[in-house]
Amino acid sequence: MKGALPDLSFEPTRAFWEAAAREELAVPRCASCGRWVWYPRERCPDCEADEMPWTPLSGRGTLFSWASVERALFKPFAERAPYVTGLVAVEEDPRVRIVTTVVDCDPGALRVDMPVEVVFRELSFPGEDGVVTAPFFRPVPHPATGEALR
Ligand SMILES: [Zn+2]
Repeated sequence: MKGALPDLSFEPTRAFWEAAAREELAVPRCASCGRWVWYPRERCPDCEADEMPWTPLSGRGTLFSWASVERALFKPFAERAPYVTGLVAVEEDPRVRIVTTVVDCDPGALRVDMPVEVVFRELSFPGEDGVVTAPFFRPVPHPATGEALR
């Protein structure tokens, strides 16, 4: 059975996981026109340049959509349920949407476009060797109260 951990050797996303290990959220950015290109492609969709170095993002964004998973059908995820899977539009370019897990949140309090920020956590699964540092997102806590910003 295929494991649940990301394949760190898969070339198109290898640099994504290397950045995550440094606690950076990085995606390719066109060296010619500056467009952020996600998912990785061979050429920039705007200008067709092929040089797109992986570039760190601020880690801030907004919640584009999400789903609360009460019971996971994929067995390795079953023990993690309930959890919230989400799509985050990054601050630099909302066309870049990162598939993620939303952590440290009350699922009922999530709102479209609410500010979120990246946090890095170690990901592992029972019965599977290895630990991967992975980016997750959480609602941005209010600086004074610690409550999530709306
Ligand atoms: Zn370009």
